[in-house]
Amino acid sequence: MVTSAFLKESIRNVPDFPRPGIQFKDITTLLKQPELFRHVVETAVAYYSGKGITRTVAIESRGFIMGGALAARLGTGFIPVRKPGKLPAAVYSKTYALEYGEDSVEIHQDALSPDDIVLLHDDLLATGGTALAAINLISRFGVRKIYVNFIVELDFLKGREKLVPAYDVFSQIHF
Ligand code: AMP
Repeated sequence: MVTSAFLKESIRNVPDFPRPGIQFKDITTLLKQPELFRHVVETAVAYYSGKGITRTVAIESRGFIMGGALAARLGTGFIPVRKPGKLPAAVYSKTYALEYGEDSVEIHQDALSPDDIVLLHDDLLATGGTALAAINLISRFGVRKIYVNFIVELDFLKGREKLVPAYDVFSQIHF
């Protein structure tokens, strides 16, 4: 039986990575445990089943791990959102502000259609800037609905407030 306390304890905290002051939440210590990886995938599959999701979009690079598993289990296919210059065909691009400087994300221009109901996945919700940039890309296709899924949410950064109520947000582990 996987308890929420056990799940939370499986996340390794790495202080001062990648720079001083950041408490990095490392999901690799969860992913390497077969019963825990299966548990987070199957909990999300149960939550999203029956919602008519047609495409799973995931954010480079840690989002690809569980995003791929969700796409296969939900039968939706998989669409990558990547850092600039990585996708080979024509892309839409969105630049967004970071704490220091800015970053961009890209999606193929033929990735989605207006009929789609999209599940967007990333490993972790911090300030919400990355998820919002990905939502901006997905919204260009005029899709019917966007669900947003994370393994971990840093509640104290209030990223959820940028996404709710416009989007349905589901996270399994909260710090
Ligand atoms: P944000 O745009 O602030 O919501 O940041 C989310 C992205 O940055 C995700 O792709 C995370 O993988 C990564 N990230 C931000 N803060 C952390 C953290 N404390 N631990 C692990 N990953 C983080």
